[in-house]
Amino acid sequence: MNPLAVDREVMRAMGHRTVDLLVELLADADRPPLRRASAEEMAARLPFGAPEAPQDFEALLAQLQRDVLPFMSNSAHPGYMAFVPTCGTFPAALGDFVASALSIYVGSWMEGPGPSRIELVVHDWCKDWIGYPSEAAGVLVSGGSAANLTALACARETLLGPMDDHATLYVSDQAHASVARAARVLGFRADQVRVLPSDADQRLQPETVATAIRADAAAGHRPLAVVGAAGATNTGAIDPLDALAAVCRQHGVWLHVDAAYGGFAALTERGRRALAGLELADSVTMDPHKWLYQPLECGSLLVRQGHLLQRAFAIEQDYLSDAAGHDGELNFGDLGLQLSRGFRALKVWLSVSHFGVAAYRTAIDNALDLAELARQRIADDDRLEAIAPGELGITCFRRRVEAGEDEAARVNAALVAAYEASGRGLVSSTRLDGRYAVRLCVLNHTTRAEDVEAAVDFFASAPVDRPPPNAGGARSPHMMDVAAGWLRPASA
Ligand SMILES: *Cc1c(COP(=O)(O)O)cnc(C)c1O
Repeated sequence: MNPLAVDREVMRAMGHRTVDLLVELLADADRPPLRRASAEEMAARLPFGAPEAPQDFEALLAQLQRDVLPFMSNSAHPGYMAFVPTCGTFPAALGDFVASALSIYVGSWMEGPGPSRIELVVHDWCKDWIGYPSEAAGVLVSGGSAANLTALACARETLLGPMDDHATLYVSDQAHASVARAARVLGFRADQVRVLPSDADQRLQPETVATAIRADAAAGHRPLAVVGAAGATNTGAIDPLDALAAVCRQHGVWLHVDAAYGGFAALTERGRRALAGLELADSVTMDPHKWLYQPLECGSLLVRQGHLLQRAFAIEQDYLSDAAGHDGELNFGDLGLQLSRGFRALKVWLSVSHFGVAAYRTAIDNALDLAELARQRIADDDRLEAIAPGELGITCFRRRVEAGEDEAARVNAALVAAYEASGRGLVSSTRLDGRYAVRLCVLNHTTRAEDVEAAVDFFASAPVDRPPPNAGGARSPHMMDVAAGWLRPASA
C-alpha cells in the first residue's frame, strides 16, 4: 500500500481547485503591490512543527489563501516599479507545472532528449536575439547570480585553471552585488577585485579599465576578467561594450557582460541598438525571469565559445557512464554546477511559442515607452529633478528639496514610504554619488501610462511633512552597495 499515491479523480479535483484559486488571485485587481508582516505575526499564523497526521488539501489551500499568499509582494501589479519586477504569464506558469508534475530531469541527453532539445532551442533563440554565433552555448540556471558565478568560473578555468593569488577581476562601482559574491565564492580576496569608478553617467569607461589592467600586469598580477553591465541595476546604464571588448581582447582578458535584467531589450530595435557590442562579450548573463516575463526561477548564461563551458565544468563520474552523450547529444549537467536540474526551458518555450516573439517585442517596447514617459514628465516638472540619465526601463529622480542632502533623503524616503502606503504602487530607492534617488523600474507588461503618471505625479505633489512610517524600508537587497563594504578596500 503506497501512502503517497493519489487517485486519478482526486488528482483532477485537486488540480482544478488549485487552478481556480490561482485564476481568482491573478484576476484580482485589488491585490496590493505589497503586504508586509512582522516575524511575530507570521509565526503566529504559521507555527513550526511537522504535522504527523494527514490534512485535508482543501483546508491547506484555505490556509494558504489566508495566512501565506496575502503576505508578499505582487510584482505583477501594474504599479509595481520597485527593484526589478518579475512579472510572469499564465502559460509560462503552466510550463513550470508540467515540468514539476512530471519531475522532468534535464541533466543528461539519455534521460531527456526531448527536454534537452527544448533547452537547446531556447538557447538558440537567445543567441539569435543578442547576435551570438551558432557555436555559443547556454545553460539555464536559477538566476543572474548563478549565471554570473558560472561565467566567472568558466573564465577562470579557461584562462587560469586553479585559483591563484595573482588573478585579478575588474568590476565597476555599479556592478551588481552578485558579482562580488561570485568573486568571493570563487576565492578572490578583496584585494584581487578592482572596483573601478564609473563615469558621471554610471558607465565603466574603457580607459579606466585599460589603465588598471596595465598597472596590474606591470605589477605581476594576472588580469583575468572584466565584468561589464548592460543595464546596471541602479540606473540601467549600459557600459560601452564595443570598447570594453576591444580592451579585453588586447590584453587577453575575459569580458563578461551582466545583462541580467536588460538583455532582453535586444528583442526590440532600439534595445538592440543600445546593446551594440553585447555580441562581442565572452559570456553574457540574462534573466528570463525579469524582462522575458518568466516566473521565478530562470536565469541564463551564454558563452560565446560554447565548448569552454563544458571544458570548465564537465567531470567524468563512473556512475554516470551510461549517460555519456554521443555526437550532438549534449548533457546539460556538464555545463554548470547542477547535475539534477529541472526543465526551466519549458516555461520559456511554451510561453514564447504561445504568444509569439512579436508579443514580447511589443511588451518590452511598451515598457521602454513608459520609462520614456516617466523621464519626460520628470523633465517637465520643476518640482522634480532627474538623478541619472536613465536607460532600459529605469528612471532615477527625486523631489527637489533645497535644504541639503540629508533633508532631501529624508523627504524622499518618506515619499517612497507614503507611496507604498497609498496602495497605488511600489517604487524603491538607491544612492548615486551619495545622493538619494527614487528609482522607477518599469518592466511589467501589466503597467499602463496612467500607472507611471500616477507615480511621478505623486512624487511631484504629495505633501512632504509626514513622518516616514517605514523610512528606507524599500531599499533593494540586491543593490551593489550591500556588497560594497566587502569590495571597497580593493578600490584604488
Ligand atoms: C537581478 C540582477 C542580478 C541578480 O540576478 P538574480 O536572478 O536575482 O540572481 C544580477 N545582475 C543584474 C544586473 C541584475 O539586474
